[in-house]
Amino acid sequence: MDKLSYEKETLYVHKGYSSKNHQGSLSVPLYQTSTFAFETAEQGARRFAGEEEGGIYSRLGNPTVHVLEERMAAMEHGEGALAFGSGMAAVSTILVHLTKTGDHILCTRGIYGCTFGLLNILEEKYNITHDLADLTTEEKIEAAIKPNTVCIYIETPINPTMEIVDIAQITRIAIKHGIQVVVDNTFSSPYLQNPLELGADFVLHSATKYINGHGDVIAGILVGKNREDINKIRSTVQKDYGGIISPFDAWLLIRGLKTLHVRMDRHSNNAADIFTFLKSNPKVENIYYPFDEGNPQYEVAKKQMKTGGGLISFTVTGGINNAQKLMNELRLIKIAVSLGDAETLIQHPSTMTHSVVPEKERVEMGITDGLLRLSVGLENSLDLIEDLQQALSKI
Ligand code: PLP
Repeated sequence: MDKLSYEKETLYVHKGYSSKNHQGSLSVPLYQTSTFAFETAEQGARRFAGEEEGGIYSRLGNPTVHVLEERMAAMEHGEGALAFGSGMAAVSTILVHLTKTGDHILCTRGIYGCTFGLLNILEEKYNITHDLADLTTEEKIEAAIKPNTVCIYIETPINPTMEIVDIAQITRIAIKHGIQVVVDNTFSSPYLQNPLELGADFVLHSATKYINGHGDVIAGILVGKNREDINKIRSTVQKDYGGIISPFDAWLLIRGLKTLHVRMDRHSNNAADIFTFLKSNPKVENIYYPFDEGNPQYEVAKKQMKTGGGLISFTVTGGINNAQKLMNELRLIKIAVSLGDAETLIQHPSTMTHSVVPEKERVEMGITDGLLRLSVGLENSLDLIEDLQQALSKI
């Protein structure tokens, strides 16, 4: 890439790679290797001492993974990125990096079930405490911060209730208190929302979802505002906990990223069509979608997201029984956890993704037993609406 700056869609296709240095290979080569041979003993010593660039061992860095990291850093407007073998490896790495015994983590009142599980492990084993709190107003954010809070960990939209928090407002308050802000941006992807631009320190993704987009990889990404932070994590927690990505999975993610913008536009348009259909169906009781004008955080969503995204949650009349019956009646839409795939997926958070969260906390998070989460895929929305309509007519 010769010019200094390109539009984001161009970066998704090209950033971090030049075919000139790889025998003209248009596709990023797959360096499927665990280790790298040194030409001499001295060269090996120089590489370990950090005096010479080049491969050492793939847990410490790999050229294919490096292209993915450069591309993701550019996409999220950060100075550096790290790729992991799962989204949870990215979550656990950043939380271990930022905290020590006695510290406190403040979270949005809803978070992914396994992130909740991890916070409980940190609390039980290392006395790193946490609170889930309503972070939707300045007063509530200020009230939830404790003297030992070192990190505010946000999901927005929150999985699966789609509640929105104002990233810029939270980061403004966090800076005042010297607190680091981490945003799980899985639901939006870098195409719809860029938390680092809004003042966050770190942004992470379950790259299993929209980043890959094809339902065939489990992976995670962490992007940092500062290169020094990312280099530090690379040479400490990531290296020593070891949750790295395989070169082949990195290669698949690079392939997925090339179409991220095209896919996200289609996911978003399909979701907007389905939202309109569900909203007017009498069997749908409540519906949660960021760009719903009736949503109290609609203005915040509009300010920080490019579109309403590809996810919709809703409840139907008749509670859990009808929710499960609806899922069983669907013919085209698949019953599966995960999201961001080409196929439209439906899941039941209280018995699936959030079943590890005890009932009391689940209800506080707004995850009722009748709630369903739809990840709208890339099919024709008319077929999806027809499938939902025939299933709704049977409950
Ligand atoms: N964050 C969110 C919002 C998620 O939905 C998930 C998984 O569903 C994760 C993190 C964890 O990612 P992974 O399953 O890739 O470990």
